Amino acid sequence: MEYSHDVIVIGGGAAGLTAAGGCALFGLKTALIEGHKMGGECLNNGCVPSKALIASAKRAAEAREEKRAGVQLAAPVVDWSGVHKHVHDAIAHIEPHDSVERFEEMGCEVIQDWAKITGPREVTVGGRKLTAPRIVIATGSGPFVPPIPGLDDVDYLTNENLFDLTDQPEHLVIIGGGVIGMEMAQSFRRLGSEVTVIEPGEPMGRDDRDSVAVVVDVMKREGVRFVKGKADKVAKGADGSVTVTTDRGEDVTGSHLLLAVGRKARTEGYGLEELGIELGRNGIKVDDRRRTSIKHIYAIGDCREGPRLTHVSGYEGSNVVLEIALGLPTKVDFKALPWCTYTEPEVAQIGMTETEAREKFGDKLNVVKEGFDHNERAIAEGLTEGHLKVMLKGKKVVGASICGVNAGELLLPLTQSITGKSGTFDMGGAIISYPTRSEITKAAAFAAWEPTVFGAWPKRWVAFLAKIRRMF
Ligand SMILES: Cc1cc2nc3c(=O)[nH]c(=O)nc-3n(C[C@H](O)[C@H](O)[C@H](O)COP(=O)(O)OP(=O)(O)OC[C@H]3O[C@@H](n4cnc5c(N)ncnc54)[C@H](O)[C@@H]3O)c2cc1C
Repeated sequence: MEYSHDVIVIGGGAAGLTAAGGCALFGLKTALIEGHKMGGECLNNGCVPSKALIASAKRAAEAREEKRAGVQLAAPVVDWSGVHKHVHDAIAHIEPHDSVERFEEMGCEVIQDWAKITGPREVTVGGRKLTAPRIVIATGSGPFVPPIPGLDDVDYLTNENLFDLTDQPEHLVIIGGGVIGMEMAQSFRRLGSEVTVIEPGEPMGRDDRDSVAVVVDVMKREGVRFVKGKADKVAKGADGSVTVTTDRGEDVTGSHLLLAVGRKARTEGYGLEELGIELGRNGIKVDDRRRTSIKHIYAIGDCREGPRLTHVSGYEGSNVVLEIALGLPTKVDFKALPWCTYTEPEVAQIGMTETEAREKFGDKLNVVKEGFDHNERAIAEGLTEGHLKVMLKGKKVVGASICGVNAGELLLPLTQSITGKSGTFDMGGAIISYPTRSEITKAAAFAAWEPTVFGAWPKRWVAFLAKIRRMF
């Protein structure tokens, strides 16, 4: 059969860009189809604008803080148009990296339109029929909008329009205390809005409980209000306000409402149903090589069942490049999967949480905890909140949770330890610049070895050597 392309990639977000760029760089005739904005969710409505907003909020919080290290800053003046500009400047700065021009230079044929899979090896876009022996679906996800009575009658925000706000909300009510809800709650509060988070369970339910407790405490002190409950109904007030009534009968009224209750994989309207590609509970079903129920069609990133993070999308994009371009069957391996919530302090996780590790290893689990109150850089900076917790089976790291300033930056040695590229002994013996927060990993690794290093056998050997030396 004559094909128009070697591979067709649908979706120009982190997953699709990585897959298409990689295939094209290997010389495959690659079509990259994007119906909306190149860069997808991360660049336009996700990671980039949220981290830019967090940066503005951090500056405001620093200025508002009581005198630190002997220096009192002037009270912050938040200029919302300046904040808005900073957020959109950050997007504009990164845009060229994900642009049509860059991917054309790599060798992709970039088509800016909505694609539909019209056959097992056929995609229709802009009136053209493309064919290829391999198709990669990377259509991403959108905000999940829960069926709450009254929601259709109010103007609500999601991550898709939150960063376009040209006026600062007076009181932002957030339904959902997950990662996005928490990052945005702290940021808007720090920038001067009143903020209430409505959450039925524990905030950041997937994360380490000790770490989350530190962040919740900081956020409460900063003035974020947490309301326990499930949003049961929503109503618009005559003055334009929004009231959320919880299942516990509590009314929470604010000027704006943000929905942050999770993501819905994009699986509808582009041919999956007609083709009979199997779907899971929230996303396309895939095997560990990211193949769908039709084996030459792959699904990567947010559109399939599994973790939804930019670096996972990129990782899966690289994996399918290895499969499609080089013919190497490549399974995903998430045993050292990191993620980070960019609140202040940050909460970073790699591998298993303590709860997961306890379930798996029971009494065999050893947890080493080091507080930043013993880290000399943290002490010098006056920012000692948080800790590092390392979960060990024997001396092998199976997971780690960090809560603290720039916690996400401290994960790398722990990643390498989980993947077996360096052991806890190497970490404990590494020379690390003083004073740095990284010293905390060395301290934890050393703590894991301390009972062995200073145990009975080494002591016997030392005593023996000392005895010999005394003889000469
Ligand atoms: C507020 C927020 C903050 C976040 N922060 C972080 C963070 O700090 N770190 C992190 O790792 N992750 C973060 N994420 C998650 C991250 O944004 C996603 O995991 C990532 O963007 C998914 O990439 P993707 O390529 O799978 O999908 P997407 O980025 O959603 O890209 C899919 C693309 O496919 C296109 N498309 C869909 N259907 C079709 C079609 N039929 N034809 C043509 N094109 C189509 C869409 O237009 C879209 O551009 C955040 C998410 C949000 C919402």
